[in-house]
Amino acid sequence: MDFPTTCPTCGRENRAEYADSSVHDLTCVRCGARYCVLVRKQKFEVLFDLGTRALMDGYAREAVASFAAALERFFEFYVRSYALERASDTAVDVEEATAALSGTWRHVASQSERQLGMFALAYLLRQGHEPDFLTPAALGTDFRNRVIHRGELPTRTDVEAYAAQVFALIDRLLTELGGGAKQAELAQELAFARHIAALPDGVTAVFEEHPGMFRARRFGTLAPMPKPAKSAAQPTLKSSMNSARAYQQAQQQALFQRALAERGELLKGFKGGGAA
Ligand SMILES: [Zn+2]
Repeated sequence: MDFPTTCPTCGRENRAEYADSSVHDLTCVRCGARYCVLVRKQKFEVLFDLGTRALMDGYAREAVASFAAALERFFEFYVRSYALERASDTAVDVEEATAALSGTWRHVASQSERQLGMFALAYLLRQGHEPDFLTPAALGTDFRNRVIHRGELPTRTDVEAYAAQVFALIDRLLTELGGGAKQAELAQELAFARHIAALPDGVTAVFEEHPGMFRARRFGTLAPMPKPAKSAAQPTLKSSMNSARAYQQAQQQALFQRALAERGELLKGFKGGGAA
C-alpha cells in the first residue's frame, strides 16, 4: 500500500510505500531533494485502515485478512503498552525497557498462539480479571479461518459484521488502556528520534499524522455514542442468548458504521495503487 507525500522543497507529490517501521526515506522525483517521512501510526491502525479501504472498494475477501492481522497486531500493541507502562513506574530506562521487550517478543513473534498467551496474561495483570472476549465466537475466529485458510468467498455483509466485531473489540481495549498506550507511542517517537539523529545533513524530517479509524478514539475527540432508545431490541432477562448476541452485533455495527461515516472518506488518500 502506498500513500502520498509532499516534497518539503518543491511541493511535488511523491508516493511512498508504507514501511513496517513507519519511517520512509525518500528522494523527490522532480527536484531530487531528500526527505524522511515519519508516520505517527501504529501497525494495527495501518492494517485496519487498509481493511476498511478494501471493504469500501469492494474487496471483501482481502479486507478480512487485513482486519484479522490488525487484531493480532493490536494484541501485540497491548502487550507492549502494558510492559512499557509497568517499566515506566520503575527506575528502568525507557530505551532499556524497549530493548528488553523487543528481545522478549522475539520468542513469540513467529507464532500467533504464543502471542495470544502473552496478551491473555498482560490483560489479566492489568485489568485484574479474565479476558472473557478471547473466545472463538467473540473473535470471529471461525469466519476468519474459513475465509483465510479455506478460501471461502465472504459476502460484504459478513465482512462488515466481522469488521464491526474487530473494531468494537479494539475500541473497547483502547478505551481500557487509556493513557497506558502513551508509553508505546513514546517508544515509536524514540525510534524516530534515533533515525533522525542518523540522517545525513540536508535531509528534511517530516512528521505525519494520518487520519484513521481509531484516531478519534485515541485522541479523545470521538463524541459519545447516543444512548440507544429502550426498545424491543434491548435484551431483557427473559430474552434468549440469541437476541442478546443480536443486540451486541447491532451495537458493534452502529459503532463501526459511525466511525466509517466520520473517517472513511479521509482514508481514500491512503490507499494503494496511486488511484486515489
Ligand atoms: Zn521536490
